[in-house]
Amino acid sequence: MTGHKRTAVVTGGGSGIGLAIADRLAVDGHRVAVFDLDPSGFPDGYTVDVTDRDQVDHALTEVRWAFGPVTILVNSAGQEGYKRFTNLSFDTWNRVIDVNLNSVFHCVQAVLPDMIGEGWGRIINISSSSTHSGQPYMSHYVAAKSAVNGLTKSLALEYGPAGITVNAVPPGFIDTPMLRRSESRGLLGRTIGDHIQETPVRRAGRPEDIAATCSFLASEDAGYITGQIIGVNGGRST
Ligand code: NAD
Repeated sequence: MTGHKRTAVVTGGGSGIGLAIADRLAVDGHRVAVFDLDPSGFPDGYTVDVTDRDQVDHALTEVRWAFGPVTILVNSAGQEGYKRFTNLSFDTWNRVIDVNLNSVFHCVQAVLPDMIGEGWGRIINISSSSTHSGQPYMSHYVAAKSAVNGLTKSLALEYGPAGITVNAVPPGFIDTPMLRRSESRGLLGRTIGDHIQETPVRRAGRPEDIAATCSFLASEDAGYITGQIIGVNGGRST
């Protein structure tokens, strides 16, 4: 779609939505590296805990050496959590903030110099449709993802003049290992079928739905779109 071959890093690209994004960006012609705790699902995978800045920096050095400066970053690594707020330990709160929010701090800050140097960049943060309405028992997760949306808007204003766009894609109800784990633990409340009946387009989302949106946002054609929170949710939670 872009006509330009760029170097992309996709965090959380070992599974689910991140893997579909990595596959799609590769089909688009980009050189793609995945950072994940378990990157085995993707050919150019790096074992990285994105909450650990040293690991991020070390892997980025290798990617730059192999592929050149990184000008597309998709932050898809995430960890859900379900706990009544009164039972939520500060350790669990901090871990969910670390994986879903602080990882975005580390990866964006580590990659921005490449983008500034190239005068071109695309940052896409995968947040969550739960930020539209809130979600009981997910206060830590929703707080982290809502902060990602706010961070996205602020960075868009700060780095627009440098040729860098920053957008968030909050998915809603996408059929991934994360969703299936939640279902098997009885955390969705009702069945997946019930949720589908409440979804205007009457199906669960697919990782490829998010990947297609990221593909466009990463393209040359999307250069006038920045600071946006672009819901991909079949009409739910809008
Ligand atoms: P998933 O569990 O299939 O994939 C998440 C990936 O992140 C895994 O490969 C995991 O190993 C990786 N990861 C977790 N912690 C990490 C860390 N510290 N360092 C590096 N990698 C780490 O989940 P998914 O459904 O594909 O979710 C992708 C993103 O979309 C997440 O940010 C999630 O919060 C968000 N999201 C998903 C849905 C949905 O319906 N599936 C809805 C809203 C938001």
